[in-house]
Amino acid sequence: MGRIFILDLDGRSYRCRFCNTPLALADHVLSRSFNCSQGSAYLFSNVVNVTLGPQEERSMMSGLHTVEDVHCCCCGQILGWKYVFAHDKSETYKEGKFVLERWTIVDDVAEDLNLDARAGSSDTENA
Ligand SMILES: [Zn+2]
Repeated sequence: MGRIFILDLDGRSYRCRFCNTPLALADHVLSRSFNCSQGSAYLFSNVVNVTLGPQEERSMMSGLHTVEDVHCCCCGQILGWKYVFAHDKSETYKEGKFVLERWTIVDDVAEDLNLDARAGSSDTENA
């Protein structure tokens, strides 16, 4: 029992830095200009393979929000939070959206660049 079902994502995606579980599609990024205590963060319309913590009230730069912590369902790492309710009317567009802290996620684009670099260094065998 307890086997975790991992959804795979088709397309450019962001993965957990710690266990490589796919978390969100690049197409679902709404904003890359968010900030959190650890640095930059991304706002997503949808994420997968996460579990949510209990609701709590949190005071942020943009006002008081009801949020839930977002954990990776595989390794349990806290990745960010979900906006459940915004007390300030100008912030309600964030309700139901997810914030993932940039340092906790890696994207597939960076991995592609690494593959290219390795393919270009294969002609040094006769040294
Ligand atoms: Zn993880």
